[in-house]
Amino acid sequence: MPGPDVIVIGGGIIGCAVAYELAKRGRSVLLCERGEIGGEASSAAAGILAPQAETKGPGPLFDLWLASFALIPDTLRELEAASGLRVAWERCGLLQLALTEADARPLRNLAAWQQQRGLPVERWETSRVREREPGIEAPVLEGWFFPNEIRLDNAQFTRAYAEAARRRGVVMRTHTQVGRVRVEQARVTGVETTAGAYAAPTVVDAAGCWAGLDGGLPIPVPVEPARGQIIVYDAPLPHFRTIVQTPRVYAVPHPGRTIVGSTVEYVGYDKRTTDEGLAAIRRGLREIAPGLEQQPIAQTWAGLRPHAPDDWPILGPTSIEGLWMATGHFRSGILLAPITGRLMAELIVDGRSSGSWTSFQWERFARR
Ligand SMILES: Cc1cc2nc3c(=O)[nH]c(=O)nc-3n(C[C@H](O)[C@H](O)[C@H](O)COP(=O)(O)OP(=O)(O)OC[C@H]3O[C@@H](n4cnc5c(N)ncnc54)[C@H](O)[C@@H]3O)c2cc1C
Repeated sequence: MPGPDVIVIGGGIIGCAVAYELAKRGRSVLLCERGEIGGEASSAAAGILAPQAETKGPGPLFDLWLASFALIPDTLRELEAASGLRVAWERCGLLQLALTEADARPLRNLAAWQQQRGLPVERWETSRVREREPGIEAPVLEGWFFPNEIRLDNAQFTRAYAEAARRRGVVMRTHTQVGRVRVEQARVTGVETTAGAYAAPTVVDAAGCWAGLDGGLPIPVPVEPARGQIIVYDAPLPHFRTIVQTPRVYAVPHPGRTIVGSTVEYVGYDKRTTDEGLAAIRRGLREIAPGLEQQPIAQTWAGLRPHAPDDWPILGPTSIEGLWMATGHFRSGILLAPITGRLMAELIVDGRSSGSWTSFQWERFARR
């Protein structure tokens, strides 16, 4: 191809979403992926889209989550039409369980400020929990139900973004590792890869927890891997109807299987599952559903989430002209893919965005 307008580094859900949105706005895009499309964190995720249940409080990150969440149904419809691929999803809701007073206190606070904002949260008595979720065998103090929350097949979502991008003309080079971003006089000129050098005036670094490119970037990128382990139980029917969570475990009812997780471990670039990690997940599950925990395990895996020191994503321009960041999505990169793709493409193409993104700039670390 003649020099593309934009090179995207990384073919996870974030790189694919950015590439798709840029191509939609008429930009020619080359995406370089070191391995397979969606082969890392984006396939390892559990598929929970739950801004209300997972937030630590109001603020810019919660607003970004809600903005992306609002885009999900239309984005899925658009991607299915643009890619010809189906993405399994359901607005099944999420049930937070309090087994003790210590579990219940933060949930009551969460529900109080969200109800004040007019967001839907329901308190379920023990009897209601039993009636609605017979799979829960634990003595539950109370439940808090977030009816809007969604479960979605994240691997299919990533593939749909990738295929839609390809059909829009994005060139995907898999097994092509970017070693270095080329910069001349504080301006990006292209990248060096294992398949040769490519010139472009704009580069988006969406390489997940590898966004530092092992020293191949002219600026520091403070992201590190946060390992998460998962256990999958096969079942002809999902064990639960809703996503079920305690502070110690979550269980997600996907068609034919239940995904249970997860750990958050800072152990470097080590993607192995461990006996201790899987045992911690099983302990959490045993508290609420010992019957399910006794079932044979169908599969286990671990993935590496891109984590920045303040838990927030890194979005937008950097001090190098033409070098953009879209990383650090930590535990919510699947949820944040639609808003990230849109914000990045608007900023790169139009120089401004309708959404609010300034709290997430790379510059916040440069200032420290
Ligand atoms: C166990 C687990 C459960 C999770 N559950 C959820 C969930 O329920 N909901 C949710 O919203 N999020 C969840 N997440 C988080 C979510 O998966 C991530 O935030 C998201 O996938 C990050 O996407 P990404 O594209 O930035 O990273 P990745 O998917 O890791 O993609 C980065 C890509 O860059 C490529 N790459 C790296 N270096 C180079 C290079 N030098 N050159 C070229 N390519 C390169 C990699 O091969 C990789 O494919 C979970 C994560 C884990 C691990």
